[in-house]
Amino acid sequence: MRFVHDTLPQRVRFGSGEAAEHLAAEIAELGAARVMVIASGSSRELAERITAGLPVVHRHDEVVMHVPVEVARRARAAAAAHDVDVLVAVGGGSATGLAKAVALDAPSDAPLPIIAVPTTYAGSEATPVWGMTEAGTKTTGTERRVLPRTVVYDAALTLSLSVELSVASGLNALAHCVDSMWAPRTDPINQALSAEGVRALRDGLPQVAAEPESLPGREQALYGAYLSAVAFASAGSGLHHKICHVLGGMFNLPHAQTHAVVLPHVLAFNAPAAPDAAARLAAAFDARSANEGLALLRLRLDAPRTLRELGMPHEGVGAAAEAVVAAAPAGNPRPITVDEIAALLDAAWEGKEPR
Ligand code: NAD
Repeated sequence: MRFVHDTLPQRVRFGSGEAAEHLAAEIAELGAARVMVIASGSSRELAERITAGLPVVHRHDEVVMHVPVEVARRARAAAAAHDVDVLVAVGGGSATGLAKAVALDAPSDAPLPIIAVPTTYAGSEATPVWGMTEAGTKTTGTERRVLPRTVVYDAALTLSLSVELSVASGLNALAHCVDSMWAPRTDPINQALSAEGVRALRDGLPQVAAEPESLPGREQALYGAYLSAVAFASAGSGLHHKICHVLGGMFNLPHAQTHAVVLPHVLAFNAPAAPDAAARLAAAFDARSANEGLALLRLRLDAPRTLRELGMPHEGVGAAAEAVVAAAPAGNPRPITVDEIAALLDAAWEGKEPR
């Protein structure tokens, strides 16, 4: 066994119903006095409740998926105008992403720490990856200074996430686990985290779907989402993430749902060429094979099945396949060709049986 693994410095505070307390402890420890809260839509009310006792100088509610540069510019200007000394992001990957865009711009002698309070299973809170969009093109990068210093997980804050969004977001987390098994920097530590992530999501998501108001399933799902994101941050983007990145950028498809639809097709494509990863995934799913485990879980969750329903035009398959092959990650278990990726995308578009 031979590998190099970076463990990122981050504190995790996990406790249902304890977000306000945990946030107050973090702000006190930082000695922060000028808090900027980033939260929009349904997360705004949650954020107001859990930050009520903090020294908030600005509440920022312009949050847009994929962080358009002009949205980042306005948030940075607000942070400067209010002279903030900490960012608290409450919401999904879009709120965390905006906090990262603001922290990215902070001067190196006055860094802006982020405390993330995730309300979906996207996992951005556990990665040093930022992303911004300009004129339809998403640029991403990796910077340690955008990694949230602390993540406050409170499953009670996810009770309002609809079953549909919970399922899509949970399958986005599951995709981090699966792809981390063969991504460019995969290693035994990432694989261990991924396997436990699959186990937690496999247990948690059906509970969330069956009983959305019950906390234990939500806790398992959040815990699995965290593990998945830590593995993903370390292992990097594999074939699945490259495909979803291309589709999201080209056709402006919804992030989590795209992952949910594409995942079984990439798993079916790679699994025969990655027997060890497939066996570990099968064990984590508690199924005869990784593909069967994922298929059964998706059935129980009534997961989204087609790229067509997400709004992808069928005539885009060819161009997307070429873009995927051009961005193909090194060391995918199976070599990929434009024809094979086009067939995979066609199957995902139509909702055919993954092969
Ligand atoms: P999102 O943050 O846009 O949230 C999706 C929807 O869910 C929104 O309408 C939001 O208002 C709603 N919502 C969130 N929490 C809710 C709650 N508790 N109750 C009710 N509604 C709630 O989407 P997302 O899937 O969480 O994140 C996607 C974004 O994150 C994308 O831009 C993606 O690229 C990015 N992302 C980045 C990383 C990274 O490592 N940098 C990782 C994963 C995702």
